Amino acid sequence: MTHKTDVVIIGSGPVGLFAVFELGLLNLKAHLIDNLDRVGGQCAELYPEKPIYDIPAYPKITGQELTDKLISQIKPFEPTFHLNQQADSIEKIDDGWKIVTSEGTTINARCIVIAAGAGSFVPRKPPIDNIAEFEGTSVFYAVRNKELFKNKKILIVGGGDSALDWTNDLATIADVTLMHRRKEFRAAPDSVNKMLNLEKEGKIKFLHGQLKSLSGKNKMIKEVKYSHEEKEYSIEADYLLPFFGLKMELGPIANWGINLNENLIKVDTEKFETSEPSIFAIGDINTYPGKLKLILSGFHESALMA
Ligand code: FAD
Repeated sequence: MTHKTDVVIIGSGPVGLFAVFELGLLNLKAHLIDNLDRVGGQCAELYPEKPIYDIPAYPKITGQELTDKLISQIKPFEPTFHLNQQADSIEKIDDGWKIVTSEGTTINARCIVIAAGAGSFVPRKPPIDNIAEFEGTSVFYAVRNKELFKNKKILIVGGGDSALDWTNDLATIADVTLMHRRKEFRAAPDSVNKMLNLEKEGKIKFLHGQLKSLSGKNKMIKEVKYSHEEKEYSIEADYLLPFFGLKMELGPIANWGINLNENLIKVDTEKFETSEPSIFAIGDINTYPGKLKLILSGFHESALMA
């Protein structure tokens, strides 16, 4: 199915969200694409609890609160969200652009607005040569379908919020082992306490170690080798969930033939249009003389772009 709309916004960070409002005032409908599973960009993903002090009329607001308020502000304009997918390719068509995502979603639109921040958030992967062989079948960097793990042997690796939250959650349906280099964690203290209690009750196992290699067949892992204090060990597992955090990569936008300057998109300051007519760039992704990477600046750019 091909969707049709006025504007496709690539990126649902604070600036992409506010662009929906500015476009909506002009009666323009928007579809948003984001490769994260939720909206809010850096505010929601990197600092949901951190206070922001430079949003007009809010002496103090957290990253998540700002995201929630933007969502309620744009609700009347009924934007359509395509989450968990990357905008992969764009192609010029008669009356605008055809945009295709990594999930095969196709959208035809008159204009494209790139609000992609510093690029897509992508998972940091463990340095294991053959890991790609198992990705998407028995190695996952995010949990999309818990049922898959029911009654299976799951090895979760990491010491942050995702690793601890999923250890605690999946412990109720699967045989879970958590592996981390040391028994100190970056996750919220409450999640750490829950995990330690589950370990005490024998409901999960904890291992000190670092991943070394994977073996298995038919895209399914069977054995995971790991090291600790220069000794090598192995453990059987059906699924591996490494949670090593996210990094940002410009990704496919670099191949779209738009004028880039050190991975930023050059725009004019009248319309925030790129070197390609009817493609605009707003927020952290763009560059022009005097650019400030602030949410406030992105909001201003949204208004002029619309
Ligand atoms: P982002 O928030 O980066 O959102 C871009 C979105 O685009 C992401 O969700 C990404 O997944 C998505 N994306 C990218 N490429 C693709 C693609 N090809 N397909 C699909 N999706 C894609 N600013 C302030 O004004 N005040 C502050 O106090 C402040 N504090 C900060 C504190 C920290 C720790 C950090 C890291 C930043 C802070 N900033 C602050 C900066 C502010 O967060 C950014 O200026 C703002 O997030 C930029 O918004 P954006 O919408 O342009 O991009």
